Amino acid sequence: MRGFAFLSTAGILPEAVADTYLRNPKKPRRMSISKDIENKINIVELVSKYVPLKKAGTNFKACCPFHNEKTPSFIVSPAKNIAYCFSCHKGGGPLNFLMEIEKIEFREALQILAKEVGVELRTDFSKETERRTDVYEIYKLVAENYHAELFLPENREKLEYVRSRGLSDETVTKFKIGYSGNPRELFAKLKARGIPESELLDSGIFVGP
Ligand SMILES: [Zn+2]
Repeated sequence: MRGFAFLSTAGILPEAVADTYLRNPKKPRRMSISKDIENKINIVELVSKYVPLKKAGTNFKACCPFHNEKTPSFIVSPAKNIAYCFSCHKGGGPLNFLMEIEKIEFREALQILAKEVGVELRTDFSKETERRTDVYEIYKLVAENYHAELFLPENREKLEYVRSRGLSDETVTKFKIGYSGNPRELFAKLKARGIPESELLDSGIFVGP
C-alpha cells in the first residue's frame, strides 16, 4: 500500500543539511538525514494504515502484522516513535516498519517517507551515495600504507625508535603502527586508485592535495 496521507509538519530539507550529508557520507550523517525524516512521521498514523490499533495507556497495541498471534504483542509508542513486536522483534522506527511491512529496501522506504513529510531528497541522492568510497575504506588503506612505510629501508631509524620504546615487531604488526613519511605521495597514490580528491579531503586525513 502506498500514498498514505499523514498529518505531519511538512518542511523542505535545508539545502545545507543535504550538502553536509553529501560531502560527508559517514554513517552517522546518513542516520541524521533519515532521523530527520522519521522525526516528522507520526508512527500511529503510519501503522494505522496497515494495522488496526487499540489504545493501551500512552501506547497502542495490536496483533503483530509480521507473525501470527492471538494475544497482541505489537506495541506502538508515539513517545518513542516506534512500532515493535515483543514476540518476533520485528519493526522499529518508521523506516524499519515500512521496510518490513512493504518488503522494500531502505532507500525506497526513505523516499516514500520523505515524500510524505515534504522533505526533498536530491534526485541525485542515490547516485551520489553509491558512488562515494566508504570513508573507513580510506582509513584502512592509509593505515596499511603508513604501516608498510615504517618497514622501508630508508625509514630504518624510525623503526629502531619504535623498537627502542619497547614495542616488539609483533606488536607493531598487530596494531599496524606506521610512519607517515610523505602524505603528498600517499595522496597521489590513493587518487591513482580512483578515489576522488574531494573524498580524500573530506576524510579529514589530508589537509590539501
Ligand atoms: Zn511479531
